[in-house]
Amino acid sequence: MTTTTTKPRGSQAVKAPAFDSAAIRSDFPLLQTQSHGKPLAYLDNAATSQKPQAVIAAAARYYTTYNANIHRGVYKLSVDATAAYEAAREKVARFINAPSEREIVFVRGATEAVNLVAATWGMENIHSGDEIILSEMEHHSNIVPWQLLAQRTGAVIKVISISQRGELSMDHYAQLLSDRTRLVALTHVSNALGTINPIERIVSMAKARGIPVLIDGAQSVPHLAIDVRKIGCDFFVFSGHKLYAPTGIGVLWAKGELLENMPPYQGGGDMISTVSFAGSTWNDIPHKFEAGTPHISGAIGLGVAIDYLGGIGMDAIAEYEHDLLLYATKQLNRIPGLQIIGTAPEKAAVISFIMENIHPHDIGTIVDGEGVAIRTGHHCCQPLMDHYNIAATARASLAFYNNREDVDRLVAAVEKVKEVFN
Ligand code: PLP
Repeated sequence: MTTTTTKPRGSQAVKAPAFDSAAIRSDFPLLQTQSHGKPLAYLDNAATSQKPQAVIAAAARYYTTYNANIHRGVYKLSVDATAAYEAAREKVARFINAPSEREIVFVRGATEAVNLVAATWGMENIHSGDEIILSEMEHHSNIVPWQLLAQRTGAVIKVISISQRGELSMDHYAQLLSDRTRLVALTHVSNALGTINPIERIVSMAKARGIPVLIDGAQSVPHLAIDVRKIGCDFFVFSGHKLYAPTGIGVLWAKGELLENMPPYQGGGDMISTVSFAGSTWNDIPHKFEAGTPHISGAIGLGVAIDYLGGIGMDAIAEYEHDLLLYATKQLNRIPGLQIIGTAPEKAAVISFIMENIHPHDIGTIVDGEGVAIRTGHHCCQPLMDHYNIAATARASLAFYNNREDVDRLVAAVEKVKEVFN
């Protein structure tokens, strides 16, 4: 792969070299395959991303050359595996500019991270009558754990409304913030609309009242440079598999003092300091939250994915994807009867759409026949679908390895859908 150096946004002084999408694409073995006898155009990146060869090789290398359990062994294999696992934690910390790798908890994914916070911090800090603010555009993973907590505690969920374009109503948010608010939990980027929420403003409004904020970064981490210190939130969660890393690994970042004071999530090996039948004591953070044998190869793969992205630069990725989003939006908007759902001015590379009198599942099935993989359904955002009074959308979600040809093939396939239904 030819790497590009990143250009500070807005700077005219340094011109970034052309983004070498062809070279990048060749790093992803699955993108070289065919689907239904046609070259694959993979446009379901919001669901999961493809993996570069470097990530695949790192997992294989772990299993073939130093597979061992971590933290407990004194022999070389175990020491090497532990070092690689902990090095991955340091890479994650640097990637999101966390103050310390002690604040990086490895979990299965964004879903587990939100559940962890709800079950530990939430059970300690949220009581009957307290309010939790969410938004209409949340993924079910950032709704249901809070509903479970509300059922257990008697807390109340308040929901920020959105506009038809898919932007959060900041006025409504301001109205909802009150002395009863104990937590704001919001997505950074909507997986169904692509909207990029103004999270720094959202956090500072909550902070002015001393209210903690959790940001669901599942859809922002793959597309934007993340700086948790600049965002100013208390908790930030994401999944490795959407970041070109293996499935089953994800991250909870939380401020150290919060993690120190939170009770453990699950009990078992590694999360303890001492165990006796009289009682047990807990390991230091982050290990207090990592009970049992973790996904060692997954964490190592996540570290390698982060290295790989570092070689390209997140700002370069954001710029390239933004151009591709504009191109795809323009091309799809040319198709009569097609309506894009989610037209906020600040968007990441997600395009949801519906077509007059054609069910999204039919769109998905027909374009699949053309080798184009998109997602159809409610995208785990049923309340959002209710807002638009629709059951489902078709969704194309782009990554930096996609190109205009992928978009053109999507457009041609959608034209075919129209032909079938006319
Ligand atoms: N949050 C958002 C915004 C998502 O898009 C997703 C997955 O699509 C999740 C949370 C849950 O991620 P995971 O299933 O990897 O835990």
